[in-house]
Parts: sequence; structure tokens; C-alpha cells
Amino acid sequence: MSSPLFPPAARDSGALPDGVVGEPWLLRVSSRIARDPHDACPTATHLAVRPLLAAAATRPYPAVPVQDFGLGLLMRCLDFIEHHNRAPEDVFAELHRTAGTFGGRDPAAHPALLRWTTEAVTGFLAARTAQQARDRDAGLPPTRPEAGEWVVRTQRSEDPDHRGARQYELTAWGRRYASDDGRLRDLWVPSPGRPRTDRPDAEKAALANVAAFGEPLHNAPRGRRAPAPNRTAPQNTERARVFGYGGGTGGVHPVADWTAAEAKRRFTEYTAPVFARAAADTTTRRPGPDCVTCKALDGCTTVRRVPNLWGGTSAVPPRKRRSVSVWDLRVHATCPAQYHLTRQLHLDALVPEHPGAVRGRAVDAVLNRRHSADTRGPRGCRDLPVAADTAWSAEGYELTPRTAAEATAMLGQHRALCPLNGLHADEEVRVQPTVSCYVPELDVVVLAVPDLLFTRDAGGWVWHETKTASQPLRGDVPLMRAYPQLALGVLMLAAGTTGADPRRSWVEFELLHPTDAAWERLDPGHGPVVDEARDVIASLAEPLLHDTTYAPRPGRECHGCAVRKWCVEGEAHVARRIPTARTADDDGPHAPARPEPTP
Ligand SMILES: [Zn+2]
Repeated sequence: MSSPLFPPAARDSGALPDGVVGEPWLLRVSSRIARDPHDACPTATHLAVRPLLAAAATRPYPAVPVQDFGLGLLMRCLDFIEHHNRAPEDVFAELHRTAGTFGGRDPAAHPALLRWTTEAVTGFLAARTAQQARDRDAGLPPTRPEAGEWVVRTQRSEDPDHRGARQYELTAWGRRYASDDGRLRDLWVPSPGRPRTDRPDAEKAALANVAAFGEPLHNAPRGRRAPAPNRTAPQNTERARVFGYGGGTGGVHPVADWTAAEAKRRFTEYTAPVFARAAADTTTRRPGPDCVTCKALDGCTTVRRVPNLWGGTSAVPPRKRRSVSVWDLRVHATCPAQYHLTRQLHLDALVPEHPGAVRGRAVDAVLNRRHSADTRGPRGCRDLPVAADTAWSAEGYELTPRTAAEATAMLGQHRALCPLNGLHADEEVRVQPTVSCYVPELDVVVLAVPDLLFTRDAGGWVWHETKTASQPLRGDVPLMRAYPQLALGVLMLAAGTTGADPRRSWVEFELLHPTDAAWERLDPGHGPVVDEARDVIASLAEPLLHDTTYAPRPGRECHGCAVRKWCVEGEAHVARRIPTARTADDDGPHAPARPEPTP
């Protein structure tokens, strides 16, 4: 292939963002870029697809106290088994004996990750064997593991094109298999929980293109080193398949099964426009989750820098840049092991969710839809009918008759309390926006997703949080301690992260209960309120940011824990005790607004 992988867009200005150095001529786009999340930062993406660019400022080599890539050991074990002909039992024995280091320099893995890996590798091998048996029955040839990474590359040109690019590469993360004649090629893409079923068309086509046209690359480029000029080995692929594998469940999901021509057609239709956009925009900045890996953060003037947000102390030795959300803080406070396994490694055994949590998400979904619906005329839910929203299964929520009745009653409570009731049409309303800031001395990106953020009365911003609960508001726990998202809202408004004047802004809290409701207001311009918020966040964030072991803290939450099956202490705790129903007075933290960035 000598033409660019995707079509021309607006001419690249050629200027690098402040604080970024290196060579822009190599464009390497992974299939993951095709997911194109709504809160992606165009500048961060533009830099992410140019592997020879880097931040100018050098940082100390960060300490990684435990292995922080959940799928890394799965791939390592499968490499030993598939490419070095080692027996699985032998590999598993070494995995556990060396705590996942295999004698190398990598940090040790969390004990639960070792157990997850053993199970996930065993399930993967069984799934591959079952697929091979189905193929045999269908008259298809066997496929064998391919060690070299598959990359679709264009010829390297002497002169840069309109993007400043001399070479394009398309990559996909996964495991590769091909028939001896090369006509059938498979790509298996593992995930830490269930196999992903929500990949957009652009990502499916990107994966299938690598399966169909990728060249086995035995000198795969690493880091910022430029790859060797390509050799051309045209593939004779007739059929390309992509399978998703869920390491947490052992499930397999067929992603694509196309002829090479069909894969190419779909790539042109769906993927190429997304990649062209990803490579083009060098000026738009959208602070948020992408700040964590962004090469331009040091020179970015759009992200809000807030030194001393809660008075935290830097980790010694320094760690990799991290993000922290209220969900992270709450999960870590409940159990550090659960935080590490679910929030950092994204492991998930998909245990059934607590009915109260499903109810809370269902109410959230209805409110978000209503609040997003009409921003022109009269606003708010005061005059909207409740009954129309009770077809919960149609919304995708499996509620019991009891929780469905509770959810409907909560929506009824909300009508009178809706913060948008009577709001003037000129005011700006954002539903579940990502609000972020950067704490430079901690190298931490703080992420928050308030339920509503809206302007009120010229210049002030209202940060509104809605919670659903089985119990009315308790008076014995301070509000911000019970709901730390309010404390973070206070700190972020006080720091002016939304561009707000703290003296004209406030945090609102709405608690919905089937027979009752509560409404509270917190003032970020009031010193004692800010001091209390700082104490609340510091008491949660400091243990998280300095944790190096993520030890389990067995307790009531073990009963509904999504990773307990890999946690010896959690299993022992549940086996010892008579199971008790969860009695928490709320539905737990809100699920993150953005899908996890996992393969
Ligand atoms: Zn409303």
C-alpha cells in the first residue's frame, strides 16, 4: 500500500504544541483510536498517533509498585505456551512462583491478578480449541499462532504529505493466528471482563483490516525509536475474522468475519474518516481523561492547574501520572484490593448488580434524558408526566416490581425539586459533563462528572448532584463525608475550574427517596465549607495515592464484589460469615461516564 491509510483532511499547520518535541512524520494509529469517545481531546489524540513525538520535559522514571496492566500477564503466559511450546501447568507454576515477574525487572503482580491470569489463560486456550473444532466441522483449515505483531504499513516516502507524514501504520492489540496457506487469518482480542460487544463499526473495521492485511513484523518498533523501512509481503488473505474474548467470564464474541475486500470496504467507509479526524486537529483542547497520557500537558493552557487542591503530599518515589475520581476514592476506601483490581486493572467477573444500584442508574438515565431534551422552551421536570417513564425494561434496566415502583416514586419526588424548573432559556445547561483539573505537584488529573452543571443569574455556576437512596438522609454523618462528590464539587468550584466565580456559585444536593426527598446547598465561597471539603478529600485521596500494596480489606462489601472470586481473603470472609444483605443507605457511587479504556 503506498497511499495514505485514510484520506486528506485540512492541512496540518505543522506546528507542534508547546512542550512537545520530536518527529511528526510517522503516523501509527491503533484500532482503539476508532472508538472516538465524546470526551476525547483532539490535541492529545493528534499527538498519541505520532509515536515519535514526546513531552520535552524529562521526568524521573516512575515507580510502579505492582503490575498495572491487567492483560499483560495473560499475553505473557500465552506467548510462552503458543510461541515457545511450554506446557500451561509449567507456565502457571512459574507465574505464581515469581509473582508474575518471570525473573525479569517487572514489579510483582497483585496475588488476585495471578489467579485471574491462570483462569483467563485456561479459558482462552479452551475457547480457541472449541473454535478450531467448529472450524474443522465446517471444513476450514486449522490456524496457528503467529508471533510477530501484525501492522498495516504504507511505503515510507521521502517527502512529507499534507499532514507532515511520510509513513502510516495501523496496529491492533490482540493475538494472531493464520492458516498455513495464509488464506484464513484470525485476530483474538482479550478483555479483562466480558468480551466487548459495543465496539463501533469503525473499530471493527480497523481490527478486521489488521487481520486481513497486517504484515508480521518481527522488528516491531518500540517506544520512540523509528521502525525500519517496511518490507512488502502482500497477503493472500481471503477471509479475516476477529473474536473478542472476555477473561473475566471466558466468553467469546464474534466481532467480524469478512472477506478481505469487505474488510477494506468497511475500513474506507467507517474507519478512515475517524482516523483522518484523529490525525488532523492540532488546536482544539478538551481537558479530561486524556490528560493522563497527554504529551502536551506541560504546555497546555486549557487544563486548569490547581496546586494544593486538597493539600496532598507527593508520592516518593514519583509515580506515573494518574487520574482520580470520586468513584476511585470511594472504592479504595471500601477496599484497596477492589480499587486496584476493578479501577486500575479493570477485572470484572460480572456478578449481578445490587438492585438498588440498578434502580439508581435507571433513575439517572431518565433524568439525564429529560434534562438533555429541550434546552429552548420552559425547562425542568415539574410538568412532565411520570407514568411515561416506567417502561424500565425498554430503557435497558431490569428492575424488580418493587424497585420499579420505587424508581417511579423517586421521579415523582424529583418533579418538585428539579433544579431546572423555571430556569431561563438563556442559561447554559450541561448534563453529566466531565469537569477536570490538574494538581501539578502530585501529577494527578482529577475527574468529576456532576449530574448537572448550569449557569444561574449571570456568572454563577450550579453544580448539582442527585442521589437515590433506600433510606432518608441521615443526620449522624456529615453530608460531604457521606457523599464525597459534594466535597470535590466544592473544591472544584472554589478553585474556579468551570470558570466560575466561587462567590456566585454553589453545590446542590438532591436526595431522592420513594416517600421523601431532601435538598441541601453548599457554598464554595465560605471558608469553613472549603476546609471541610479539603479534609474529606484528603482523607480519601492520600491513602489511595500512597498505596503500594492494595491489600484486601474484607467486609460487608465482599458479598457483592465483582472480583471476589480471585481474592482469597474475600472468599474466606464470605465463607466464614452468614451472608448479609447490603444495608448501605445509598446506591454506591455513580458508574463512570466513560467506558473503561481497555482493549
Ligand atoms: Zn428534572
